[in-house]
Amino acid sequence: MTAKALITGLTGQDGSYLAELLLAKGYEVFGLVRRSSTSNLERISHLFSQIKIVSGDLLDQSSLMDVIAESQPDEIYNLASQSYVPLSWTQPALTAEYTALGVSRLLESIRRCKPDAKFYQASSSEVFGQPDESPQTERTAFRPRNPYGVAKAYAHWMTINYRHKYNLYACCGITYTHESPRRGTEFVFRKITNTVAQIKLGLANELKLGNLDARRDWCYAKDAVYAMWLMLQQEQPDDYIIASGETHSVRELVECAFNYVGLNWEDYVSVDPAFYRPDEPVQLIGCIDKIKTAIGWQPQHSFKQLVELMVDSDMKKLIQNGA
Ligand code: GDP
Repeated sequence: MTAKALITGLTGQDGSYLAELLLAKGYEVFGLVRRSSTSNLERISHLFSQIKIVSGDLLDQSSLMDVIAESQPDEIYNLASQSYVPLSWTQPALTAEYTALGVSRLLESIRRCKPDAKFYQASSSEVFGQPDESPQTERTAFRPRNPYGVAKAYAHWMTINYRHKYNLYACCGITYTHESPRRGTEFVFRKITNTVAQIKLGLANELKLGNLDARRDWCYAKDAVYAMWLMLQQEQPDDYIIASGETHSVRELVECAFNYVGLNWEDYVSVDPAFYRPDEPVQLIGCIDKIKTAIGWQPQHSFKQLVELMVDSDMKKLIQNGA
């Protein structure tokens, strides 16, 4: 029998990659989409004919119950949230509605309508905020520092509580930053690969950045969604950190991208204080020992490979667009 999966957050970076993975594995894929997000379907337009779009909203319990009762999914991946950190400060209550209470509604709908469904909750390294230790493990204390991180911490613990109380197969994957050609150019990784491609093609001649010493644990989104799927294929549900397990600086990223196209980064990069962050968070780095040992996952793409595939993709897009 064909396995069925329901994805929330289908229109986001991870949702689109996960949908592709599950379709390739022969799943029947349902995507929960808010009616208002129909203008936001660009990342999944190539998958339209294969995905069943179902209408529902994390703010609306009955819509979730209807969708789950009707689609009867074997696996449910909750990738939806209000995830933009600055917005979580200007709209903290709405952030909590989607990112925290939305997960309560989803868990409750699963318990009532499809208690044997396996559930993946997208937790985030933002739950660690200012952690006491580095690298962080699954046992590191949560000290979130913004309303988004607080909401994700609530969702994380609700998922674990439903697992204990109702015996649901419910797991949390704590993902660190993950990037791909589908990432927006407001994020530094894609900003760099896109601008380097423009410079190489003669469409730009400078790249203005903020703090070159900022470091991140960057992973490829395709590798991350594979970990999500793998987590739901285990005998027992459990929570895992999904990360690359190493950090790199913005400077290394710039150097790697310019080297790849045969240019010297120092000829093009300037530091603009406008891009400096007032309160840069403590370095977050994920320890991936548990997920490696327990379920055999590790990233399949190195930092260098990720940089290169993103530069390639940006060059291709620019050329296709007539550059
Ligand atoms: P996030 O902060 O992890 O959500 O992701 P970003 O990709 O926006 O930023 C990653 C790091 O790059 C941060 O520490 C920024 O301070 C640093 N950074 C340096 N220059 C830039 C820039 O021009 N744009 C952005 N977005 N970040 C920059």
